[in-house]
Amino acid sequence: METIIQKITQDSLALAKSILLQGGAVAFPTETVYGLGADARSDEAVENIYRIKGRPQDNPLIVHVHCGYDLNSLVYDDKPYAAVLREKFLPGPLTLVYRSRGIVSKKVSCGLDTLAIRVPSHPGAQEFLRYVDLPVAAPSANISKHVSPVSAEHVYSDLNGRISLILDGGACSGGIESTVCDVTGDYPVILRQGLVSREMIESAVGKCGVYVPKAGEQVRSPGMKYKHYAPKCETRLFDDPKAALKEFDSLQAQGRRVYVLCESKYAKMFAAEYVLDLGASPEEMAARLYSLLRQGEKVADVIVAIRPKESDGVMAGVLNRLSKACAGE
Ligand code: AMP
Ligand code: MG
Repeated sequence: METIIQKITQDSLALAKSILLQGGAVAFPTETVYGLGADARSDEAVENIYRIKGRPQDNPLIVHVHCGYDLNSLVYDDKPYAAVLREKFLPGPLTLVYRSRGIVSKKVSCGLDTLAIRVPSHPGAQEFLRYVDLPVAAPSANISKHVSPVSAEHVYSDLNGRISLILDGGACSGGIESTVCDVTGDYPVILRQGLVSREMIESAVGKCGVYVPKAGEQVRSPGMKYKHYAPKCETRLFDDPKAALKEFDSLQAQGRRVYVLCESKYAKMFAAEYVLDLGASPEEMAARLYSLLRQGEKVADVIVAIRPKESDGVMAGVLNRLSKACAGE
């Protein structure tokens, strides 16, 4: 199968719609990462997504819709605080998990009685979703477990030959996946951290939990149990910058190609040509992380990463992705 990359035009949108209506999948930009979308109403289309990515069959997908889509047709939107979150944060990088009406394919939620819904703010995503006017099931457009794609070229390097169309909307500004928040209970509970932080949700509705799976318990967000976001090279994560420098020097002395992934403030400890600079603010680090991991895996045998100290707000999401990228199997 030939894979083409096209800018978002009336012609490419018409092609995208015809692919979706035939049960195929199309990659499209969002403000977080690129998604791989298919018709959420069709079992075959949804199965196709799992096959293309090599995604585990029990890791549910998020349904993407445009701003004008009637959410009530898909889910029971019955919590007043959920309406406040919708009003305040959508369209944007917040996915809400509701009780499902069972309208879309059961394969989307892998048999759960809930459905995750997202309304992306990226203008290209909105154009695509409005044009197809379907509920679009979409995970990130990468091979399962690899780093999520934040440009059309990243999607191409993972899925070339597996899909026919990538809609190119430029680089994603957000850079890490959406916050996933369960809105079925008495108050919201974050299942996956992201650019809409716990603090932001608390300031909107007063209370917000963060789900931490207990040992032996069935996880509420099945995706959490899988290895994720990993580059193809070796990675080593350090809390202490001095220990990272020692490791860097020792690896270099062994002739390994070693790069360091760190905040700008530690960059000057290392030779500039070996630094993958995350920047200074949490938003900057979120926006750069996946590009740098993909850049790093092309040139490095080993990436030595230094874990930022700050852990509040948006940094919680950045640290979560960095730890998972650097975790072994
Ligand atoms: P990805 O598509 O790779 O961004 O992953 C989607 C994330 O949303 C995964 O962590 C899933 O476990 C989570 N998710 C999707 N649907 C649900 C749901 N119905 N309940 C809980 N978590 C969900
Ligand atoms: Mg993903």
